[in-house]
Amino acid sequence: MSNETVGPQDGYSVTSREAQEIVGEHAAAGNGTAERHAHLVNKSRERHLSGATRPMYARHWLLGPTPRHAVPEEGMPPTTAYHLIHDELILDGSSRFNLATFCSTWMEPEAHKLITETLDKNMIDKDEYPQTAELEMRCVHMLAKLWHSPDAEGTIGTSTIGSSEACMLGGLALKWAWRERRKMAGLATDLDDASVRPNLVMGTNTQVCWHKFCRYWDVEAREVAVEESEVVTDPERAAAACDENTIGVVSVLGSTFTGHYEDVAGLSVALDRLQERTGLDIPIHVDGASGGFVAPFLQPELVWDFQLPRVKSINTSGHKYGLVYPGVGWVIWRELKDLHPELVFNVDYLGGSMPTLAINFSRPASQVVAQYYNLIRLGKAGYRAVHEACQEVAVELARQIGELGPFEILSEGRDLPVISWTLKKPEAMGWSLYDLSDRLRDRGWQVPAYRMPANRQAMVIMRVVVRNGFTHDLAGMLVRDIQRHLKWFENQPGFRSLTDGTGFHH
Ligand SMILES: *Cc1c(COP(=O)(O)O)cnc(C)c1O
Repeated sequence: MSNETVGPQDGYSVTSREAQEIVGEHAAAGNGTAERHAHLVNKSRERHLSGATRPMYARHWLLGPTPRHAVPEEGMPPTTAYHLIHDELILDGSSRFNLATFCSTWMEPEAHKLITETLDKNMIDKDEYPQTAELEMRCVHMLAKLWHSPDAEGTIGTSTIGSSEACMLGGLALKWAWRERRKMAGLATDLDDASVRPNLVMGTNTQVCWHKFCRYWDVEAREVAVEESEVVTDPERAAAACDENTIGVVSVLGSTFTGHYEDVAGLSVALDRLQERTGLDIPIHVDGASGGFVAPFLQPELVWDFQLPRVKSINTSGHKYGLVYPGVGWVIWRELKDLHPELVFNVDYLGGSMPTLAINFSRPASQVVAQYYNLIRLGKAGYRAVHEACQEVAVELARQIGELGPFEILSEGRDLPVISWTLKKPEAMGWSLYDLSDRLRDRGWQVPAYRMPANRQAMVIMRVVVRNGFTHDLAGMLVRDIQRHLKWFENQPGFRSLTDGTGFHH
């Protein structure tokens, strides 16, 4: 089998073997006259002999029929498969214009290199890849220290595929700890008595992963409504919703709706008072999917983490403001004793044994390596610099959008570098934020419009997540585009408005 290239080395050239296959394909095509086949075969052969490349879009495989929803009977040459897929993916939106996602869309070339070098490693194979396991543990301890664990080097935590898996683990630990508390007090748990049902208290503004947790693990989701004029959960009402079967309260550091932080310290005080009154000792889990990697750098004075003894576990997404590409999250417990030993499994590790906990088994190690890279490459100063740059752009963008006239700014990027706004007079406009979102797509901008959670559903808001690489220049382009669309709406008296959107917020 020969692999030499007969065309120019432009990546679109064909190897001589491939050229022969193309000739053969035409002969076998069978959908034309015998003369046409003979002609095609001759043409291909001529091309092959003259060393000419076969134009990409005329290759047999690209002309079809390659089944889309069934495994094809035969394969195709690697360059063809590559370009077929590469070119199809060009149709995806550009991450530069994606202001909807919280996830990182840029990393340094050195990080790319490390990721490529470690793609073949499986995070779970601690015995085969002890150094990778070591880097994971270093990240766990770094985060535990950043979040003020009283025993940062002795506590336990793990990498996960993202915050969702991390939240499942955090929730399970709360459920196990609740059972343990009940057992110690001589009270029935859900295991002894089906009428005893554990519940988790959270705001209606929590991310969908908490609803999944409750459904998957049979826990009542006790939702505290975000009331009129509020954007986050009221600590007093969250405390009031607790009872003897409450496994914990989730506090969100960085609401996905508006980017506002919830008042974790306020919640802790409210739960202290509840304990004084009732004896109930309710733990807090902080969902710091975004904020866990922001607050330590942008709001170092804010008390939200393990400095509050009631905070027993925290999760974060390494792939959001941890600045790693999608595929890594973290969950850390305050101290070793805050995780029930039944949830920990031991795997072989260099002849010894190492504790692991996770829902997934096999998982790429590359994202964990990339997280370690960012932590040592950027340091605290680097993370601060990146997030400060984002915040500066967010605050300026919020100011400019506020000055356009029709919008009321809900968050201006002071917590997470996330801004959100609503229409001052939605009924009087003749167009909605869904329409604006739709029109902004004309240049590729992806800016989500969606409804606030239950109770505040009447309010439609729009959000921009400012991420690394979103510059003042890009922000200026966005504002000019919004202005252009405002003019367009003004000139369309008969415009029929959309009342619902595609809801691509996360
Ligand atoms: C993004 C997010 C999640 C889910 O995180 P993934 O890493 O995407 O699984 C959970 N909670 C909050 C607050 C989030 O912002």
